[in-house]
Amino acid sequence: MAESELAHLLVVEDEVELQQLLETNLQFEGFSVEVVGDGEPALRAHERHRADLILLDLMLPNMDGFKVLEHLRRANDAVPILMLTARGAEADRVKGLSLGADDYLVKPFSILELVARIRAILRRVRVAEPAKVVACGAYRFDFDAMTATRDGLNLDLTSREMRILEILVTYPGRTHSRSDLLRLAWEADARPSPRTVDVHVANLRKKLGDDEKRRLITTVGGEGYRWTERPD
Ligand code: CA
Repeated sequence: MAESELAHLLVVEDEVELQQLLETNLQFEGFSVEVVGDGEPALRAHERHRADLILLDLMLPNMDGFKVLEHLRRANDAVPILMLTARGAEADRVKGLSLGADDYLVKPFSILELVARIRAILRRVRVAEPAKVVACGAYRFDFDAMTATRDGLNLDLTSREMRILEILVTYPGRTHSRSDLLRLAWEADARPSPRTVDVHVANLRKKLGDDEKRRLITTVGGEGYRWTERPD
């Protein structure tokens, strides 16, 4: 993943107010966010859609954060985990870190600090990652070099088209609304209309050679767009 804006965060937190605060703010910061309220749904959500980082409250109603940590690390899952712990609960922090959590924040925390910690962890993890190249049949997308080819021929995508493509291809099968795409693929101060997204997607389809015979990008009626092919 070339930019943290595309990172998918799984928030495991049972306090409804904090859930909403985290979801709103982290989405505003450009992350893709899924919120669950307990350990079991967290593991299921992570299995369904792998998180780039898990924000894990320790005290949960049924399956607590320690068990989630144990489960993931025993399965050799190295997904970065940032624990949310109660003030004064030093023993919990020590236990969590020894179970393989990457970092912790003590409640109440500031959103700014939270976002800084998340970005720092994601940066650390990504240093080791190779350049982001995705092969998909005859297509080859290099999101670092910003090039897209089909059978070796350059498709001459604009940087905006590459950005939209990256968002779609990174999460195959997932529907992105026009407003999500606007938020993720355009600068924060740009405010184009949702129709602009349609125009860019139409151009992108044309360049990819996407047609009825081979649908790469599916229009999800009234909702948005989704990439239909599994990358190789
Ligand atoms: Ca809790």
